[in-house]
Amino acid sequence: MAELLDGKRIADEILGEVRSELLATEAAGRRPPGLAVVLVGGDPASLVYVGLKVKKCAEIGFHSERYDMPESTTTEELLELIARLNAKHEIDGILVQLPLPKHIPEQRILDAIRPEKDIDGFHPINVGLLYLGQESHALTPCTPTGVIELLERSSVPIEGASAVVIGRSAIVGKPMASLLINRSATVTVCHSRTVDLPGVCRNADILVAAIGKPAFVTDAFIKPGATVVDVGINAVTDPSFVRTVFGEDEKRLAAIEKRGQTIVGDVHPRLAEPVAGRLTPVPGGVGPLTIAMLMKNTYKAYRLAL
Ligand code: NAD
Repeated sequence: MAELLDGKRIADEILGEVRSELLATEAAGRRPPGLAVVLVGGDPASLVYVGLKVKKCAEIGFHSERYDMPESTTTEELLELIARLNAKHEIDGILVQLPLPKHIPEQRILDAIRPEKDIDGFHPINVGLLYLGQESHALTPCTPTGVIELLERSSVPIEGASAVVIGRSAIVGKPMASLLINRSATVTVCHSRTVDLPGVCRNADILVAAIGKPAFVTDAFIKPGATVVDVGINAVTDPSFVRTVFGEDEKRLAAIEKRGQTIVGDVHPRLAEPVAGRLTPVPGGVGPLTIAMLMKNTYKAYRLAL
């Protein structure tokens, strides 16, 4: 049976390290790192994420500023706010919560954030630095960077390993591939047009699933003993789907009854567990690392700006 990798424990470890470095900078009389979180509109999931990020800042001792803007905000108004935050000394990191309302061009907004404050790592300068292998002065995307922390801190060998990433998004799949290449893995990136996906995946010592399809990756995709990282966060509302994947899982079925949904990863845990060597659970795997890496990136931006 696969060893379950505890993302929550590793996230707490990372946050503890940031906290102790912060205490040292505080002792030296410096201002705390500052994060600005911008939310446009009232998407319920985004409201939860923004709330969690602001709360985490307070817990760790960061200065934070939250900007809630109405759905009707124009591109120009948002660009104006970003220009102000770019110039603001107390702000080291700017996070614009995605998705933005449809009338606002996302990339134009992301391009307007100063690369030095782009703690999501989505600005073309940071994307380029990562691609060039110059990570030390780049800010790299939180979720795939969190996956690297999870692998390294769980002593999973990356150098020389065969790694397969399913998904080629700019947020997860592509930066994940670059981060793995920079650590000397042999990387294959798969996507919706890949021929014989299970066969390609069965070559992987490290398999990262970032697809957005619940329980899609089964035992047929997994080389015995492989490390399987499940990035997927899929809201499942159908109890019969839950029963098919998890059996009579009372906790998940109760969640659907109470909150209308349960969160399922991209990996089918019951089929993956007997084959994989290590597996990240959902929830409690990659999820907690994303927010920890946001704090670590804000701290990195702060240090680079000193
Ligand atoms: P996306 O929709 O932008 O990309 C999905 C990718 O999967 C695409 O590149 C597509 O080609 C590929 N794909 C789709 N169907 C496929 C198929 N049948 N076979 C092979 N490949 C297929 O999604 P994303 O933003 O990269 O997110 C992926 C998943 O990760 C989602 O479930 C998302 O919620 C989750 N996510 C989690 C975190 C976290 O903090 N844990 C952060 C970001 C995203």
